[in-house]
Amino acid sequence: MEPQAKDHSLITQLRKCHLRATGQRLAIMQSLIESQSHLSAEDIYLRLKQSHPTLSLSTVYKTLQVMSQMGAVITIETGTGSLKFDGNPSPHHHAVCSKCGMVHDVDFMKYPIDMNAKDVLPGFNVQSIKVFFNGVCAECARSATQSEG
Ligand SMILES: [Zn+2]
Ligand SMILES: [Zn+2]
Repeated sequence: MEPQAKDHSLITQLRKCHLRATGQRLAIMQSLIESQSHLSAEDIYLRLKQSHPTLSLSTVYKTLQVMSQMGAVITIETGTGSLKFDGNPSPHHHAVCSKCGMVHDVDFMKYPIDMNAKDVLPGFNVQSIKVFFNGVCAECARSATQSEG
């Protein structure tokens, strides 16, 4: 069977980050992209543990760290102690709940910003722009009202 196109672009991405495209790394990237949501390293590790018994949590961490330094993966600080990762390359913003750590995508076109901003600071070279909306999600807000009685 031909290698899938999806695999091929993942291999290219890993190589751009100077990582050898091992089966484990491909699986890490694939599960992040396929989930179409925001996963922690633990989430990915748990998803892959069965199919990749030799995979370690630190391999997942290191792979995600390198990919995020190279801009292939977005790191999201949830403020709840867990980091989440996003493999969606299209520009979008994030809404983060400071209570439960939920991360949701926010449509870029709702709050478009100039991704080619050149005049932020004199001589400053912008490599990426991240917008986070921090707050409390509807569910957490609801359960807070409920517990108040
Ligand atoms: Zn919440
Ligand atoms: Zn996202």
